[in-house]
Amino acid sequence: MRTCRAFFGLSLLPLHMEMTSSYITTTTITAPLSGSLQNRWEKQKTVPLYWEEDIRPEMKEDIYDPSYQDEEGPPPKLEYVWRNIILMALLHLGALYGVILVPSCKIYTCLFAFVYYVISIEGIGAGVHRLWSHRTYKARLPLRLFLIVANTMAFQVSSCHWGGKQEVEQALQHNHYHIVWLLWSFGCAISPRRYYKPGILLMCFILPTLVPWYCWGETFLNSLCVSTFLRYATVLNVTWLVNSAAHLYGYRPYDKNIDPRENTLVSLGCLGEGFHNYHHAFPYDYSASEYRWHINFTTFFIDCMAALGLAYDRKRVSKAALLARIKRTGDGSHKSG
Ligand SMILES: [Zn+2]
Ligand SMILES: [Zn+2]
Repeated sequence: MRTCRAFFGLSLLPLHMEMTSSYITTTTITAPLSGSLQNRWEKQKTVPLYWEEDIRPEMKEDIYDPSYQDEEGPPPKLEYVWRNIILMALLHLGALYGVILVPSCKIYTCLFAFVYYVISIEGIGAGVHRLWSHRTYKARLPLRLFLIVANTMAFQVSSCHWGGKQEVEQALQHNHYHIVWLLWSFGCAISPRRYYKPGILLMCFILPTLVPWYCWGETFLNSLCVSTFLRYATVLNVTWLVNSAAHLYGYRPYDKNIDPRENTLVSLGCLGEGFHNYHHAFPYDYSASEYRWHINFTTFFIDCMAALGLAYDRKRVSKAALLARIKRTGDGSHKSG
């Protein structure tokens, strides 16, 4: 139950401070000793769970487990959660209407919706995903609080319910830690939990509707459909793309044996989460990409926070480990390979 350990270990994270000497530095994961690759290849045949040169000992629960097998027996029954299907349908209708209304919006409303979108995505990308799911860097209290608030703006819980409880459980068994993003929003990001529901109501729906309406006289309908429905529906859909499109379309330069791919369009929408083949090959890398600021606003954001002293201990893969991996398991599309 590696994933569970990772998951439950997370629930205490936002509220305690961690002190370390590696203040605003990045940690590079050490390279394999040259010449020992052949031996390691022999070893890999008998111990296939992970490549030890690629990871830190405490990171093993993040690793894709090739020995995993689906449970025997019929697959779980498909369950429709009608309340959520109806709410989702209404949200998307409102968002589509929002698309039509965009030209009639004030420029401030468009800017506000865009900034709100970026902050929501950072709540998921920099917060729930890179910080709390994979622990790719450490954050000080002010940044953690900011990311918790940003995460309530993004409100991802509906997708968790929508997918159905069994699917979430199955995903957990499947070591697919991305579902942890969704579960996180369900209550672990905010403690105590009773503040979470009012939190999302306020930050995801009420505030973005009231601000343009009250502050610069936008019409209520424009405010509701563009700043709230359209912005929120876009956040949901680009996040889903990471686990759909980025598992279907794109090259696999780092590991051709896994589904996730490098998808530039998803990276654009998700501000850096679409380098998905790299991310699954090296889940502990804080950039979630071989590159730093290339179509990756989230890495830029984390680096800015590090410059302010709010993020530290950013983990990176060493060049040698990277090249060894490309050579060993890449699909040949990497420009170095
Ligand atoms: Zn991930
Ligand atoms: Zn994935």
